[in-house]
Amino acid sequence: MSGVVQVAVPAPLRRLFDYRWEGERPAVGARVRVVFGGRELELLGERELVGGRKMVGVVVSHHPASAPRDLYAISETLDDGNLFGDALLELLLWAARYYHHPLGEALHTALPQALRRGAPPRDPTRRRCLRAVEIDGGGGAPDLARAPAQARIHRHLLGAGWVEAAELRRQFPNSSGALRQLLEKGAVEAGLRPLPPAPQDAPPKEDAPRIKMNPQQLAAADAIAAQDGFASFLLHGVTGSGKTEVYLDAAEKCVAAGRQALFLVPEIALTPQLVARVRARLGGTVCVLHSAMPPEERYRAWWRARAGEAAAVLGTRSAVFTPLKSPGLILVDEEHDISYKQQDGFRYHARDLAIKRASIEGVPVVLGSATPSMETRHNALAGRHRLLALERRGGQAALPRIDFIDLARHRPVEGVSAPLLRALRQRLENREQSIVFLNRRGFAPLAQCVRCGWQALCERCDARLTYHRGAEEFRCHHCGAAGRAEMACGECGEKLFLIGAGTQRLERHLREKFPQARIRRLDRDQFPGQAQLARELEAIGRGETDIIIGTQLISKGHDFAGVTLVGVVNSDQGLYSADFRAPEYLFQQLTQVSGRAGRARAPGEVLIQTAHPGHHTLQSMRAHDFESFAGRCLDERRAAGWPPFSHIALWRAEAARPGAALQFLRHAADVGRKLRESADAPRVQILDAVAAPMEKLAGRHRAQLMVRSARRAPLHRLLREWCEALEADPRARRARWSLDVDPMEMF
Ligand code: ADP
Ligand code: ZN
Ligand code: ZN
Repeated sequence: MSGVVQVAVPAPLRRLFDYRWEGERPAVGARVRVVFGGRELELLGERELVGGRKMVGVVVSHHPASAPRDLYAISETLDDGNLFGDALLELLLWAARYYHHPLGEALHTALPQALRRGAPPRDPTRRRCLRAVEIDGGGGAPDLARAPAQARIHRHLLGAGWVEAAELRRQFPNSSGALRQLLEKGAVEAGLRPLPPAPQDAPPKEDAPRIKMNPQQLAAADAIAAQDGFASFLLHGVTGSGKTEVYLDAAEKCVAAGRQALFLVPEIALTPQLVARVRARLGGTVCVLHSAMPPEERYRAWWRARAGEAAAVLGTRSAVFTPLKSPGLILVDEEHDISYKQQDGFRYHARDLAIKRASIEGVPVVLGSATPSMETRHNALAGRHRLLALERRGGQAALPRIDFIDLARHRPVEGVSAPLLRALRQRLENREQSIVFLNRRGFAPLAQCVRCGWQALCERCDARLTYHRGAEEFRCHHCGAAGRAEMACGECGEKLFLIGAGTQRLERHLREKFPQARIRRLDRDQFPGQAQLARELEAIGRGETDIIIGTQLISKGHDFAGVTLVGVVNSDQGLYSADFRAPEYLFQQLTQVSGRAGRARAPGEVLIQTAHPGHHTLQSMRAHDFESFAGRCLDERRAAGWPPFSHIALWRAEAARPGAALQFLRHAADVGRKLRESADAPRVQILDAVAAPMEKLAGRHRAQLMVRSARRAPLHRLLREWCEALEADPRARRARWSLDVDPMEMF
């Protein structure tokens, strides 16, 4: 038997490659090792690829034609069947097409590292172990007396029970001969033993207290539970309305029915607090998946999910690609969060893929948010999502009162105005907790010469350097560059002035003002790792802090009962931005951070410092009126032709040489305009190529080109032909370029 298969290889090429197989036909979805690239040579009458690289590809389809003799053969078939499973493979094929991303790379994204590298699909949750067998009822079997090496190992194993084979080899080096003989004699037996579960995979210690859901929560939970087969729900609930309770109830029922729940959360919200809550509620094995996990651990979680051993998978963006043996439900918390959009490489949106996946798997999907994205809201209004509303906070708590501090009337000192200081003092007297939110790390975002106006700028980016106290460094928050802070002007040598406040400066100021208070600063500088941050958040939960100064690190998901005041130091950056999504992001962020106030019995208050208290976005915020905000936002987008009333894609390019990226995209725009007719996409709008808003980043010059269409199909027809044309275009090698479908960030 022989034939031809089409293989996707992990290379930046949007096409498949044919290979010949002989013997057993490799399954679609199986990994194969193939030689790729290289030069063709005629060797002993056979054509062969020489100097090519071995790559791990995936079989995508079988070719009906019989194999031509001169087609290169697969070197090795690595899997017996479809490694991904039918549904997940279908999702990945769809996603690669939709995002116009090379399929081989997309498929690799979904695999654990070991499998990407071609490891055999061996159960990583079990290890080869050995143990002693008692011979003739006695520990020291007579015939081992003449083999001291064997006797030593045997004695050791008798006392130790099952020992991992690798561990035994470490303890008894050069003992493979002795071990083989022990196995042959039947004095030692081998077996695959499950690894002890990782601490976070262990079953819960105690039962979580049950919350009695309110009528709206019950109605939502019932609607989800009653759904058999695909449907998408929008769970729109104000902050603290108990959305998590609804997710958990739905997941619990799904698990009780013997099916698996997939629960996606934003990067920053995957806290040990949440993991513990899910685990306690669902029992069984809950596998956690996120990008910072060691590859081995990820692989085990992936395997348990695929084998059906995991009752639920809780993870961030990439967990949407977890294989599931018997899926029953998909949950997407904070569906509006932009961490669901991958910002480089395979630029997929995990929320959109979650919906697609649910439809392929035939299971319900629930999108939850206090501030749904305009896309999701639009879809809900159009009837594509069923709306489940939670209009009140879950327990006794009311929504916080929101007020503005007009910065024109109250000049801030070190970032803080007098009314905010007064409010903080009052909470200290009441022994209540406060959060002061400032989304800017470091001490000061700008260092400027008092005489000539020179500013400390990053050499590699079009950006100012932030001064960090303690380390005494200037750091670039865009490329990560850091260097000793010289506080003298680069032009005239005069002293530099530090302008503006970051969290460090705020901390110093509040410590001066409130020397008795327990003040903690929470940002990435202070807590680079998850574990420490988790401990700190727990301490805050126990009331061990009076004032918490934090960046967005504290804005999401946390449930601190003692916090009654949230102060927002600076919210104005988003008000008059050129990005059409800026108001939406601002509203989301302010809602999230405000939502930390007054979650328990004591009423909460939010004070927002702003120079524009009359701005309609802020006014809707104050009234907790998402409806009016969203209505206006959608009206503006409709008038300007932005999504969700159009579909956009963004070509991005970058190059070391100034101007090269822009030049390439101008050329790309010409190519695209010429293709519009043949692609039957005459009405797709191709804007002008422009420099990126921050043109230089990490030493590379960037440009972008927007493409927009009222309808999706012609846009994608054009993009498909356009990608092909550029891949074949020699000028396309002068810049690094990529395509971002449904871009979320415009810089
Ligand atoms: P959300 O995810 O909507 O922000 P959470 O699910 O975190 O809200 O719930 C907020 C708080 O309200 C939690 O402390 C939760 O225990 C509590 N809670 C939720 N539902 C109820 C309810 N029906 N009765 C009492 N407390 C509730
Ligand atoms: Zn100067
Ligand atoms: Zn930089």
